[in-house]
Amino acid sequence: MGAWCAREGWRGVIVEDVRRESTARGWRLSAAVRAGAGSGRASERVHFTVHGADADWLPERGDAFLAGLLMPAMSIGEELVVDAPVSGRLLRSARTVMEIYAAWWEHLRAVGVTVGEVAEARRGREAVGLFFTLGVDCFYSLLRDGRRRTEPDHRPVTDLLFVNFEQHAGPDHDRLLDRIRLVAERSDCRAVLVETDLRAFTAPLVRWEEFHGAALGGTALALQGLLGRCLIAAGFEYRRLPPYGSHPVLDHLWSTEALEVVHDGADATRTEKVARQLAFSELALQNLAVCWRGRPGRNCGACEKCLRTMVALELAGVLRRCGTLPDVLDLDVLRNVPMGSADNRDAMREVGLDAGARGRPDLAEAAALAANRYGPVPRTEQPR
Ligand SMILES: [Zn+2]
Repeated sequence: MGAWCAREGWRGVIVEDVRRESTARGWRLSAAVRAGAGSGRASERVHFTVHGADADWLPERGDAFLAGLLMPAMSIGEELVVDAPVSGRLLRSARTVMEIYAAWWEHLRAVGVTVGEVAEARRGREAVGLFFTLGVDCFYSLLRDGRRRTEPDHRPVTDLLFVNFEQHAGPDHDRLLDRIRLVAERSDCRAVLVETDLRAFTAPLVRWEEFHGAALGGTALALQGLLGRCLIAAGFEYRRLPPYGSHPVLDHLWSTEALEVVHDGADATRTEKVARQLAFSELALQNLAVCWRGRPGRNCGACEKCLRTMVALELAGVLRRCGTLPDVLDLDVLRNVPMGSADNRDAMREVGLDAGARGRPDLAEAAALAANRYGPVPRTEQPR
């Protein structure tokens, strides 16, 4: 992370030499990022590389890098300079994004943003993307979209986007990609696989739970030559919206004149998402992957997120039909599951309330015990 270490002569975060090129893995949009003209350090390149892309999917613009470098620049309190064409709408929205970030997270402060030029407005494309990881939230958005296809004026999802932010590789990762391709094929969508080093590059300066929405927005912006609209599946519901990197007040601010970014699916809790959509889809029940602890695409069946999902499936009467999680929910394991963060505990508490409302006091009691075992923790202790 040499770029962030160059404190001497620091004069902002500078993005330049935005370039599109063909690589062995696919077309790549990259930029040189450096910390200050006087640092004397070589710049590092940040990239978005798309498997099997056409060149014109990735226009040579600075939008993606503005989204991806805004929070890091705020974190060090230095101006962000993007020496490339940037959408006027995005540039104006960046001020609002900074106001929201600064209001939610004290370690971030608004900075100046300068761009090389305001880009000419482009015509929007037809394709509609949905970020897709095989999780409950994105399956809900995909399945609901499928049911809306007959509605007039509906623009159906055409592309499932998987972004390898963790830079995973190996057989487990390949299996995960195969399953995403299978779900895409069965849903009449194209699977679009994106490699990027944005998360690793920014990790020293930002917290992933605060930054991931900007990372998704940046990826959608990199693909503006393909997408006219892009959905980000909601992780929380409208009745309970903690400050979080992907949020209904933030996600749409990554839109440009030609790309509409949409926060989708905050109308339902996790339990409701399973009961309304996933419970009726064999494709979802046989491919669901929710775990952040296990290997890519594998559910450990024992962490709080796996167990919360199992409660939701049990309440919908389909736990035994789910091929990727244990058939039976062990209440002792649920009662004693380690809980990582305050947000996780709130989510578990909510699942317990859902269980009580659906006539399952056994599940309600176990989830409540798990959620209440610890007091609240400061946000800085939360896992990234
Ligand atoms: Zn798990």
